[in-house]
Amino acid sequence: MTGLLVATNNPGKVREFRELLHGLRLVTPAELGLEVRVDETGETFAANAGLKARAFAEAAGLVALADDSGLEVDALGGTPGVLSARYGGPGLDDQGRYRLLLQALERFPEPEARRARFRCVVAAAAPDGRFCQAEGTCEGVITPRPVGTGGFGYDPVFYLPEYDRTMAEVEPVLKNRLSHRAAAVTALRPLLERTFPELLPV
Ligand code: IMP
Repeated sequence: MTGLLVATNNPGKVREFRELLHGLRLVTPAELGLEVRVDETGETFAANAGLKARAFAEAAGLVALADDSGLEVDALGGTPGVLSARYGGPGLDDQGRYRLLLQALERFPEPEARRARFRCVVAAAAPDGRFCQAEGTCEGVITPRPVGTGGFGYDPVFYLPEYDRTMAEVEPVLKNRLSHRAAAVTALRPLLERTFPELLPV
């Protein structure tokens, strides 16, 4: 078995990775019947992406690619950051989390203070220890209230000044082009080909 294992079963992420890494043979954990649980104990996106990539590479005996992402809000000192998926505790869903964020920002009505970015780190690891990683960001401003129904997570409160729309209002095709994940994978691709030449089609 050869190929690059993508350390996710999220179909949206797999589709995005396939588009961005065309020409490389990608395999998913489901295709291998592989189940790996990784506790995201790192304090940075890079640490968590590295933890996941290394765990999947070791479990599968293949080069593995993993990502970690989240939202950083300037007025809150970069919160929720690596805790984006767990912001407010386990009782909250996506809507509960962005409502909590809007509450925390009520004291900061000025758009300048509500600047934020989605950040993503993608990492690739081989069972023999070879490793590379890259980062991508997407800049925006947190809205006063949610707008739009697309996407997931904090998309309805993340306004993109360049497009005059929130991330929940842009077409999925456009989101996949301007996202932090797309920027990270695009930056990773040349490193990936240099670090793991065996992944290139012959
Ligand atoms: P993970 O990298 O899939 O673990 O995502 C971490 C968390 O960051 C998600 O649960 C979301 O809350 C948030 N997040 C990451 N990327 C996005 C995005 O593109 N839109 C909205 N929220 C995101």
